[in-house]
Amino acid sequence: MTKNQTSTIANWGNYPKVRAEITVPETPENLREQVLARERLIARGNGKCYGDAALSPFIISTLRLNRVLDFDAVNGVVHCEAGVLLADLLDAIVPAGWFFHVTPGIKNITIGGAIACDVHGKNHPDKGCFSNWLISFELMRADGAIVHCSRADNPDLFWQTCGGMGWTGVVLSARFQLMPLRSIYMRQLAVRAENLEALFAAFETNQNRQYAAGWVDCLSGGAAFGRGVVYFADHAEPQTPEAPLLFPQKKPRNVPFYAPSWLLNPLTIRVHNAMLFSKASTGEHLVDLDRYFYPLDSIQNWNRLYGRRGFIQYQFCLPEAKSFEGIRQIMKTIRESRDTPFLTVLKRHGERPAAAIHSFPIRGYSLALDFPRTSSIISLVRVLDELVWQYDGKIYLAKDACSASRMGRVDPVAFGEPKFHSLLKERILAKKQGA
Ligand SMILES: Cc1cc2nc3c(=O)[nH]c(=O)nc-3n(C[C@H](O)[C@H](O)[C@H](O)COP(=O)(O)OP(=O)(O)OC[C@H]3O[C@@H](n4cnc5c(N)ncnc54)[C@H](O)[C@@H]3O)c2cc1C
Repeated sequence: MTKNQTSTIANWGNYPKVRAEITVPETPENLREQVLARERLIARGNGKCYGDAALSPFIISTLRLNRVLDFDAVNGVVHCEAGVLLADLLDAIVPAGWFFHVTPGIKNITIGGAIACDVHGKNHPDKGCFSNWLISFELMRADGAIVHCSRADNPDLFWQTCGGMGWTGVVLSARFQLMPLRSIYMRQLAVRAENLEALFAAFETNQNRQYAAGWVDCLSGGAAFGRGVVYFADHAEPQTPEAPLLFPQKKPRNVPFYAPSWLLNPLTIRVHNAMLFSKASTGEHLVDLDRYFYPLDSIQNWNRLYGRRGFIQYQFCLPEAKSFEGIRQIMKTIRESRDTPFLTVLKRHGERPAAAIHSFPIRGYSLALDFPRTSSIISLVRVLDELVWQYDGKIYLAKDACSASRMGRVDPVAFGEPKFHSLLKERILAKKQGA
């Protein structure tokens, strides 16, 4: 028996909020009953997308479909249910000498969420998205049938589901390949870049590094416009052959309540940025896996720093040849606006495999900007959308809360099933009809 509960719910950005009936099935049979009983629903993992993707008036939470079905520690293959969190797996796979080929900057996400958003990490040019390492999955469709999907079996459905935002059905379980790991340490190189040109040059000249992500100061102007720090890293060799492989997870600190909405204002953000820039310890250091891959997980509920109104993350990707000029223009537009992003992250991306039709990254650069949700932010997003479109870019639907319907460059009607319906899908369809 599954219990249904009605509550007000939001994703990580705390905007929008929706009153929803949520059911938490524990078996595929429970799930089938709910899928058959409802006209419209959407699957939800851990709600760590930012906008309205995992929201709808009726939600199926996969958090209790969380059994590890098999772990082949010799070949590094995991078979688990869709509600298993990356964090749950780390304690088992790391001591056995394995790690994820692709991980986003957060470990509290489910395997179902990783597939539906086809998440990427700081090593996209080399390793691509999560789907690159996905062997197969089982998908429950609108009629309750369970379909096995892989590159060989139902390949169209396989690729439509990777990055398909839950619109093809509910992923029940998945099998994926891990990468060998020899040490829990990373050799991190921090490079301070005095302006945007230097920031891009740092990415281009350090392409031999396995991982890279840059923090950008969006407030600095003049000669320091676009300054920042790029954090490169490679997996370290073990310090001693018998060094234990224990995932070094620390107890996170917590933000216990919502901060007042004035906390993040241009002045506090300027001070924060100046500190991040000047205090960055440049040069090469050993840091552990948790610190390099999941720095934001060290503070639980950090989204509350944006106050009850929440925040918008705007992440876009531009083609390589237009990335520098496009990002320069977009950052200039943001500086001239009334809105100030608190955190801005630049990443380089590689080629998208032709079959991965719904993956977000295209060969080029992406910029992710966290804006407090002010009264003017939606108007700014409209302007940014226009610029991203002019530069032949796209936005990441996992982060989207208010962009124009064309910006994700997908058409949910062309491949989704009408039953699997989220607020994101509704927004895209409504705007298309109204356009
Ligand atoms: C701090 C932070 C850092 C992040 N860094 C990155 C990053 O570096 N790279 C990146 O790519 N993303 C990043 N993200 C986004 C995040 O990784 C994705 O949104 C991920 O999908 C969230 O997983 P979830 O389990 O919370 O899914 P949810 O947020 O619950 O759902 C996300 C989408 O997946 C669908 N879905 C979930 N489970 C299933 C299922 N079983 N079957 C079908 N559909 C399903 C939902 O319908 C929804 O459309 C970050 C998020 C945060 C909060």
